[in-house]
Parts: sequence; C-alpha cells; structure tokens
Amino acid sequence: MAAESSLLLREKLTLISSREYCGKAGAVNILDHATRLEVVPLFCHSWGCPRCGPRKGREWIKRISAQKIERFITLTCQTTRFANPLVAAAEMKAAFAVIVRRIRRKFGKFEYGGFWELHKSGYPHLHILSVGSYIPQKWLSLQWKSLGIGFIVHISQVKSARQCARYVAKYLVKGARRTWEAFPNMRLVQVSAGFDGGGNGEAVKKAAPGGKLVRVEARFPQIVEYLMLDLGFMWVDDDDQGRVYLRAPPGGFRRVAKEPWQYKLLAQLVEAADG
Ligand SMILES: [Zn+2]
Repeated sequence: MAAESSLLLREKLTLISSREYCGKAGAVNILDHATRLEVVPLFCHSWGCPRCGPRKGREWIKRISAQKIERFITLTCQTTRFANPLVAAAEMKAAFAVIVRRIRRKFGKFEYGGFWELHKSGYPHLHILSVGSYIPQKWLSLQWKSLGIGFIVHISQVKSARQCARYVAKYLVKGARRTWEAFPNMRLVQVSAGFDGGGNGEAVKKAAPGGKLVRVEARFPQIVEYLMLDLGFMWVDDDDQGRVYLRAPPGGFRRVAKEPWQYKLLAQLVEAADG
C-alpha cells in the first residue's frame, strides 16, 4: 500500500513538472482549516510568452470553432496613408467600430470575432470571422475607403469548421507573437458581445470560495512538491487549467520548512489549521 502510493506520488510530481508553467509564482487557496488545498499556477497570459501565447491561441481556436462562422472578412490598409503601422492600427480599430454600426443598420445581424495580423508589409490586417447577414464586397470596400483606410477588403464564405480552425491557427498560434511584438498595446483578439456570449478577457476560473488565497513566490511544481513531499498532503485531482487539488493527511500535515517562501506558506497553513 505504501509502495503503491509513493509510486502514485512520484507519477503525479513528474506530471506536474513536465507541464509548461511560466513565471515564478503560484497561489495556494487554503480551505476548511487547511484540510483541503487548491494550488493555482499563476500565468502571465502574454501573447509574447512562449508558454502562454500558444496556449491562448489554442483556447481561442476552441472558442471560435464552437461557433458556426459564416464568413471571413479581411480588412487591409493602404500603407501610404499612415505615418506608421501603429497609427494605421489605431485608425483601423476606430474605423471598424463605425463599420460594425453601419453593417448592422443596413443589413441586420452581425456578430464577429476579430484578430490582428502583422502583414509582411509591416502593416496590420484585421481578420474578421462573422456570423450574420450577407454583406456585398463592393459596399464594404466603399465604406472602408470612405473612412480613409483603404479600399482592399476581402470577403469569403466559410466552407467548413476545419477550414475556419486552420485559418485562425495560422494567425493566433503561428503568427501571434510577431503581431504582439509589433502592436504591444493592442488587444489581439476582439469579439462582439453577441458572438458567443461575449467576454474579451481570459476565461479565468475564480478560486474556490471560502478559502484564504496565499500568493507564493516559487515555481508551481516546487510548491506542489513541497506540499506533497515535505508536508505530506495527498493528491486528489487536477483540472484543465493546471490547478492541483490536495487534501491533508489523516493525522495532519507535517510542519517543516527550509526556504523563506516555505516558512511563509507554512505559517499560513498552521494559522488556518489551528485557528
Ligand atoms: Zn506566460
């Protein structure tokens, strides 16, 4: 029995350290007088991060793939009209907001997910995946031109969900880091409120309520290792966001620490357990 559980323990710790975590911090949510713990990896969530960027891209593909996209629209800019790519992006963003209002007024329903691409010209393109009314290409081109951006716009019908996922992958997984570096202050992906229930932010799960959330300045695998190997906490579960759920051993956890961050965390655990 003991051999079996130490095998399981090692297996779990190998799993944890093989995962890709960025940053140097995690959080421990102390629940029920430290009989249960939720260990939360803290990610930087940057498109420029070699760990978080691709993961975010994949999350967006999943989210976009769940929608029945009807059309791809690409909005370009006439580079000679702008002082630099940043100005072009800012003006395209403002013009797109106007275009959305005009489309809805003239054609009715229009929901979208949109994302930026750093085109090889060095200037941005705005890619839109839309759900809703048919929009004549000529009309869109005229509108885009009237707003002073350029006249080259493409509209094409989406043939399959797979084609759609490939299209998104090209920009949000392969190209996202370059785009992010070129336009660091832009939100790379933007969705309309009615696109899929909306929300432009991260789908960050809230920590379980009723606990005390303690930030820990150590790498996530180290935190889990300390809690399990040194203090004796036992593995319960983990989830798709990389969180790990532990429970205290029957006789209570051991009270040992070596590093400063361990002392700090232990003090919180003891306070919760004895309090
Ligand atoms: Zn990161």
